[in-house]
Amino acid sequence: MERPLDPIFSPRSIAVIGASRRRDSIGFALLHNLIADQFSGAIYPVNPHASSVHSLKCYPSVAAIPDPIDLAVILVPRDKVPAALDDCLAHGVRGLVVITAGFSETGPEGAAREKELRERVRAAGVRMIGPNCMGVINTDTAVSLNATFAPTPARRGSIGFVSQSGALGVAILNVAQDLGIGLTQFVSMGNKADVSGNDLLVHWEDDPETRVIAMYLESFGNPRRFTEIAKRVSRKKPILVVKSGRTAEGARAASSHTGAIAGTDVTVSAFLDQCGVLRANTIEELFDVARALDRCPLPQGFRVGIVTNAGGPAIMATDACVNLGLQISELSDATRAGLRAFLPPEASVANPVDMIASATAESYRRTLAAVLDDPSVDMALVINVTPLLSNPIDILEAVGAVARERTKPVLAVMMATDEFYEAIKETTHLPPVYRFPESAARALFLLARYAAWVRRPAETAVPAFAVEDAAVARLLDTVADGYLDPADAFRVLDLYGIPLARWRQVPTREEALAAAGEIGYPVVLKAVAPDLVHKSEAGAVQVDLRNAAELAQALDRMTASVAAAGHAVDGWLVQEMARGGHEVIFGITTDPRFGPLLMFGLGGKYVEVFQDVRFGVPPLERGEALDMIRAIRGFKLLEGVRGEPGADLDLLADVLLRLAQLAQRHPRIQELDINPFLAAADHARALDVRIRVGAR
Ligand code: ADP
Ligand code: MG
Repeated sequence: MERPLDPIFSPRSIAVIGASRRRDSIGFALLHNLIADQFSGAIYPVNPHASSVHSLKCYPSVAAIPDPIDLAVILVPRDKVPAALDDCLAHGVRGLVVITAGFSETGPEGAAREKELRERVRAAGVRMIGPNCMGVINTDTAVSLNATFAPTPARRGSIGFVSQSGALGVAILNVAQDLGIGLTQFVSMGNKADVSGNDLLVHWEDDPETRVIAMYLESFGNPRRFTEIAKRVSRKKPILVVKSGRTAEGARAASSHTGAIAGTDVTVSAFLDQCGVLRANTIEELFDVARALDRCPLPQGFRVGIVTNAGGPAIMATDACVNLGLQISELSDATRAGLRAFLPPEASVANPVDMIASATAESYRRTLAAVLDDPSVDMALVINVTPLLSNPIDILEAVGAVARERTKPVLAVMMATDEFYEAIKETTHLPPVYRFPESAARALFLLARYAAWVRRPAETAVPAFAVEDAAVARLLDTVADGYLDPADAFRVLDLYGIPLARWRQVPTREEALAAAGEIGYPVVLKAVAPDLVHKSEAGAVQVDLRNAAELAQALDRMTASVAAAGHAVDGWLVQEMARGGHEVIFGITTDPRFGPLLMFGLGGKYVEVFQDVRFGVPPLERGEALDMIRAIRGFKLLEGVRGEPGADLDLLADVLLRLAQLAQRHPRIQELDINPFLAAADHARALDVRIRVGAR
């Protein structure tokens, strides 16, 4: 069955509109690539000023071509693109690649030209790559399409690569060539006027030849659709993304903790995590991981066995693994005894297994086999510092032979010469090779992460809580654009079944004293005033007031301190004094394009100091909520250290799930902070909340 992008990737005939005789032009380079890479179909250069180009008969227009055309590549100057497009559509062209620049990347006028282009292409039911792109490659030998002007060709392999940047696309092809990495297809998608990264994900989803999808992205056109598609596709094959602008986009202006910590980049990472997409920091790292994903089976866990002939790099590898969150396997007594039987007495048979410098290819073979066969090992990292006498290629061959007979991933770190690397460039049967332990450890880590994602049961049910959403909406409607009154914010949480410290909000001092009597001493007093959101800073919080006298005194002091901070007190919040447990934070922030984002982490004053938080995207499943909680660095605190009782993790997950539902059902909530939420073992509850509502 033909797929929508087949006319672009597998055309039987191509018109090159703007083919040029000038050797330094891209119109020449592209035509040359088509011919040099031996395109299997027919090529029709189009140029009204030439009768032949590059040994091919040239046509004055597409209309003059006597045969049907599947794909037209357009590289004429900007102002001639609409006419060329007309010609193509009239001739029944089925796919377009528009190389020409000068569209939305240049400003509003260009954007208008691009919009027109898109509308006409879409109306005709034809798919288009570009404009402002470098072209497409399909290495399938039945097609052999290189419709780019890149100087480096691509070799056949199993990675589908899409780059938003054309210039970087050239670099990507170079690096791939250097590392001996093969691609199925390569797309420089330029301005994405029609075909987007999402379309390519769908295209590669069921393409059996494409085993790994790699993307260099600068922006997400439609993040929600991306999440939806990526979540599905990443269960079938790994998706690796380098998203540039990690820091440049910066944090949005926000007054909540959650909003301030969640810069756009954090949002992007949370979204990618949520859909099982692996994020690489650099193109180099992307290829490091892609090679491992391409050549290795997936590991069953996070435990690494290390085999080496030198101590130093093994220590570096161990550090790198542990820092990433991998575990160093504890080899069994039987494995160690087995190793002891043939390794020299100076060797270390505990993990990392150091066979010392005299290790031969045979030592590698036997040692790696023993390590891989140990049930505590999920994957292996083999390190070789080229010794004087043995040939590193023999060693790598031995390692590869052992790996092929087993179903655990094996990565090799070869600290060898450039000649060695040159010699293995063309090979595909050997394990992926890295120059340094850190890059191999990173690849192993992402391999294990991906494997864990694939193992996780797909879409278990997202819980739905029975909630009076109409009542919540009415509370939110009390504010046009700004903060909810603290009492209303507590009511929202209460309606959503989130436990609260007992509280009363009252207008007068006398009522505050009465409320404290009802709640029971000791109490906490907080002043309520318009726009008073950071209460402690204004002296508007007093804890542990043990009796009416202390409360009365606090009321006096607070009236003065809040006035001094420039606020007029218009009420009092009296709360039970909560004790025990750890302060955590729950938050919601909303990205204008990505939608709501949830946050969990260590709360109270620790928020600013440690920023020990995790993000998640609703809808959340229970497992995902628990993962967010477990993933914070301070999780051990919540589990309970030194004999103190641990927090109720199920309850914390429950709060996250309820907030996920709140965020989804009430998009007017722009920001919400519950800080702190006291994660006490037996009596967990929210002590402070603020909710900012956006304009309708
Ligand atoms: P804000 O965040 O506006 O400064 P909070 O209401 O969060 O004000 O109070 C500041 C701190 O006071 C909290 O982080 C917490 O340590 C403590 N606190 C607040 N309410 C209570 C309470 N009901 N019981 C015990 N401690 C509290
Ligand atoms: Mg607070």
